[in-house]
Amino acid sequence: MKLVPKILLEGKNINKVYGHGKKGVHAVKDVDFKFAEGEIVSIVGESGSGKTTLAKMIMGLLKETDGELYFKNQARSLKKFSERRQYWSEVQAIFQDPFSSFNEFYKVESLLKNCFKLRGLKLSKQEMEDRMREACIFVNLDFDELRKKHPFELSGGQMQRVMIARIFLIHPRILVADEPTSMIDACSRATILDMLMKLRKENNMTIIFITHDLGLAYYVSDRVFIMEHGNIVERGTAETVIAHPTHPYTKQLISDVPKLHEAWDIG
Ligand code: ADP
Ligand code: MG
Repeated sequence: MKLVPKILLEGKNINKVYGHGKKGVHAVKDVDFKFAEGEIVSIVGESGSGKTTLAKMIMGLLKETDGELYFKNQARSLKKFSERRQYWSEVQAIFQDPFSSFNEFYKVESLLKNCFKLRGLKLSKQEMEDRMREACIFVNLDFDELRKKHPFELSGGQMQRVMIARIFLIHPRILVADEPTSMIDACSRATILDMLMKLRKENNMTIIFITHDLGLAYYVSDRVFIMEHGNIVERGTAETVIAHPTHPYTKQLISDVPKLHEAWDIG
């Protein structure tokens, strides 16, 4: 029997226009999507194609100009504080610049402790500490060394790992990862990806992986969406999109990735 994938998040006709009139920027145009439990979907496109705008709407950090979003088959509402808290305990994001996501006055310890609040967990001091320590071990950080530090005292790679430690503690159903490795060195990059894959496997988390790197998207994802000027111009399994691209923009992206080109013997 074929298992029917469980759809967690659905978007219908999602649009975002920044500003008004002639000066308005139509950053996301009539985007539809369905993301199933446990899958990794990459959204690939050049800078300015609307990826971050889409990510922020999925997170509910930016209001869509038009369109509907359904989370677990119900129209998403984020009007009430309690609704937002519930949504953010199940849908989380990590962004390209981990420093911009946080209040710089919070120490690492508070950033991690906030995860328990978000989930509405009432834990003893000892339980909180044990869990924070466990999360730091998972991301390879020394909790005792970092707990009293502020974000500006950490490197980009360390900060991104704090972000992942938060995901470990929150364990959301969906993680939106918006170019999470583009500002860190190559060595940390591989580790970060590895951690995300491990989290996904352990929690059956859905990952929406946003990148401008088609080669990377191919290696990590089940499905790939190609985004150009606010439109999803092509979508399908990673193999189909890369081996049999139909849209000229996808073909152009593929020709920009020399290794893929050779591996598939195409074009
Ligand atoms: P990407 O993440 O793919 O680089 P963005 O979503 O950041 O793309 O941007 C898509 C388009 O929307 C770009 O033309 C960008 O200049 C514009 N844009 C993004 N944020 C804003 C904003 N706050 N105000 C006006 N225009 C914006
Ligand atoms: Mg972006």
